[in-house]
Amino acid sequence: MNIAANPAVEAADQTVYLKDYKKPTFLVDSVHLDIQVFQDHTIVDSILNVKRQTEGDFVLLGRDLELKEIKVNDVVLTSDQYQLDTEQLTLTNVPDIAVITTRVIIHPEKNTMLEGLYQAGNLFVTQNEPEGFRKITFYPDRPDVLSVFTTRVEADKKYPVLLANGNLLETGEVNASRHYAIWEDPTKKPSYLFACVIGDLAVLKDRYVTSEGRDVALEIYAIEKDIPKCKIAMEALKHSMRWDEEHYGRPYDLDNYMIVAVSQFNMGAMENKGLNIFNTSCVLADEEYTTDAAIMRVQSVIAHEYFHNWTGNRITCRDWFQLCLKEGLTVFRDQSFSEDLQSAAVQRIDDVSILKSHQFPEDAGPLSHPPRPDHFVEINNFYTATVYEKGAEINRMMATLLGKEKYRQGTDEYFKRHDGQAVTVEDWISALSAGSGVDLSAFLRWYNQPGTPKLQVTHKYDAVNQSYTLVFKQSLRKNDKYPELKPLPIPVALALFNKDSGEQFTLDADDLVENQVKDGVYLLNSEEATVTFKNITTEPVVSLLRNFSAPVNLDFDYTDDALAFLIEHETNGFNQWQATQTLLERILLEDHVAQPYIDALKNTLPNIVKKDPLLASRLLDVPSEGYLASRIDENYKPDVIQEKRNALLNAFAKALSSFFKETYLSLDPKLQSEFSQAMGERALKNIMLSYMARQGDEAVFELAKQQFDTTSNMSERLGALKVLVWNDAPQAKEALEKFYTRFKDEPLALDQWFMLQAAHPNATQETIQYLTSHPDYDLGTPNRIRAVSGGLNNNPVNAWSYGVAHFIELAQYLDEKNPIVGSRLLQVLSRWYTLAEPKRTEVKEELTKLKETVKSKNVVETLNSMLSV
Ligand code: ZN
Repeated sequence: MNIAANPAVEAADQTVYLKDYKKPTFLVDSVHLDIQVFQDHTIVDSILNVKRQTEGDFVLLGRDLELKEIKVNDVVLTSDQYQLDTEQLTLTNVPDIAVITTRVIIHPEKNTMLEGLYQAGNLFVTQNEPEGFRKITFYPDRPDVLSVFTTRVEADKKYPVLLANGNLLETGEVNASRHYAIWEDPTKKPSYLFACVIGDLAVLKDRYVTSEGRDVALEIYAIEKDIPKCKIAMEALKHSMRWDEEHYGRPYDLDNYMIVAVSQFNMGAMENKGLNIFNTSCVLADEEYTTDAAIMRVQSVIAHEYFHNWTGNRITCRDWFQLCLKEGLTVFRDQSFSEDLQSAAVQRIDDVSILKSHQFPEDAGPLSHPPRPDHFVEINNFYTATVYEKGAEINRMMATLLGKEKYRQGTDEYFKRHDGQAVTVEDWISALSAGSGVDLSAFLRWYNQPGTPKLQVTHKYDAVNQSYTLVFKQSLRKNDKYPELKPLPIPVALALFNKDSGEQFTLDADDLVENQVKDGVYLLNSEEATVTFKNITTEPVVSLLRNFSAPVNLDFDYTDDALAFLIEHETNGFNQWQATQTLLERILLEDHVAQPYIDALKNTLPNIVKKDPLLASRLLDVPSEGYLASRIDENYKPDVIQEKRNALLNAFAKALSSFFKETYLSLDPKLQSEFSQAMGERALKNIMLSYMARQGDEAVFELAKQQFDTTSNMSERLGALKVLVWNDAPQAKEALEKFYTRFKDEPLALDQWFMLQAAHPNATQETIQYLTSHPDYDLGTPNRIRAVSGGLNNNPVNAWSYGVAHFIELAQYLDEKNPIVGSRLLQVLSRWYTLAEPKRTEVKEELTKLKETVKSKNVVETLNSMLSV
């Protein structure tokens, strides 16, 4: 195939549309793979037993494969009997039942894209979702072709571990130096869930007995010295297995469940049937080596991949447009699981923070797309915050509306109807509706429409009639690509507070049609609506969107005093936090005075610090510069935002200085037996330390140094190191060296060392150069790239100055070596169009220049979208 001269033209030609979906012409009943790994090549033999389903040619997808032989029913085909191009092998006149045999050669040892089968150090692993399997062998590599896989893996004995999906049938010797293993997966699955692992790994073993009495062998594979760091993941796995039985009635279905930790991995983890492959960052957890945040993430990703066994694997997607069917639902499930692990309010705060800081900006800019897109060029570009996080919110809204019992009836119906099938978002909504008895079809619009809705609310209190009226109005920003935007169903959880007593009013609105206000949730299902509450004896303070009941931008004219009231009196921890954020946004973006915020925190924090230190730490969140930037649509000046934010932090440090110091000295996380309590105290101590350092008090550096030297906990160590390094303390250099010496052979800890320096507010181009030319920097390890790039991106002032060249160069390099990661990193620049001139034009020119040189579908599609504003 020719590479078109103009990549944009090429990209346009490769667009795939949802409306063009066609059933596969052939189904595969069973597939036998034989994978023989050698040092400089790998041979893949495959035998497909296929059966015709509809008229037409049989298209086997394949990329970068060297075809050695192809047979149909034992007859070798000559090259004029098939058509082969860079993407597919087409066979015409295949009998209705046939056996297709192929032999191909592939090169995992040269695979830098980390897609298909690739070598990562001493390990060979696979990543096949969404379209990696076609880089292993010719196959109808699409999720609606489900088959039973038998896999023989053969390799040198220096790789003692040979894994594939399912049950181990046989192992044996080929000769003195080589051995093999044969695995059979009894469950039908699409090719994207195929996995194999070849390497030298140690294993942590455990067992779990399911509610059905199945005794499951649990195994986590990692390099020997990381095995002790797998214990938290193992506990989380067993916990997830129990949780899915209790909350969704879903027991595990195989006799073994394996997880493999890999340090070179494009994403977080992958739910391959019975053989999950994980980025080490999402499986290794140990207070000594990883932060509290990382430990929480490990538990949630373990749960996420486990939950995919039912939502994703047993019931999969018909096509990749339906990606959010499995991802949105599975994220909602893992979020609910995590809400049971720690303070539910804090989990919600953390999930909404991610949604608002990543998904909202994505949906407001040129990369906006519906959770279920209707076209794409490169599906890898659609593993987005919109598909995952907004997808989760859609499921949460429906679950909120239905309540526990009906939601469960709905999910039961889904599993009953569709187990073993490849389905669509429509199938999910209709099963959920049928099972619960509630028509949810309007929620389909959430899947099909892009953009964050604006929810405008106005209010009026009538003292004479003692009634309180809310008027709701929703609107969606115009989008040329989706001209017919319809109103969405929006559940609004709300409460009314008595200003004088701080108590809640009972919601009484009997002029409403039945069920409109239920358990404090009002369903707005039209463009505009009015609700009047009775028996409201005094003008109330309303708290809207409690627990963030819908992913919308709320526009309500709160007074600063009302927000301060909510910080002090709201009993929903999430909305308490939301009130702090709304108030801070006004101070930072609209020049409101800071005093009501400071007073409210002074009144509130001392009580919460002891009761719920984790929530207290979140109430001290100040929106990041990056988040604030996402709230600005034009004429954005990064340095102005930075200055304002610093001024606020300094004022705050001063106003609460004695409270910060006393609290810092009074907390002792070691005395807490509950992890989440200790984690909260550690978070608080680190926040206090950084506020104290803002006061310019040298003694604080000694405290930080002491914390750094005496702790064995990574969150405490990094918190202290950050204060020293970011404030250029005299002790900084030595501490950095000490950290390096201690952790230079611990990649995840070393990532933190890179990140912390790249994130230094005054990091310069030289800092980044020093880090990227450090002997431990490695462009073949996405985690390391992300450590430096993510750190740099922590400071928009730096990211939008010398950072632009950094990201452009990286995208250019990765375009060829690892386009999945390259495309993703480039998205950091997607809000270029909001910048004030002349920066705006400068960055646009850089991006336009980049377009001339890149070739991958991934990067080209992203660039085209980014430049389409
Ligand atoms: Zn997932």
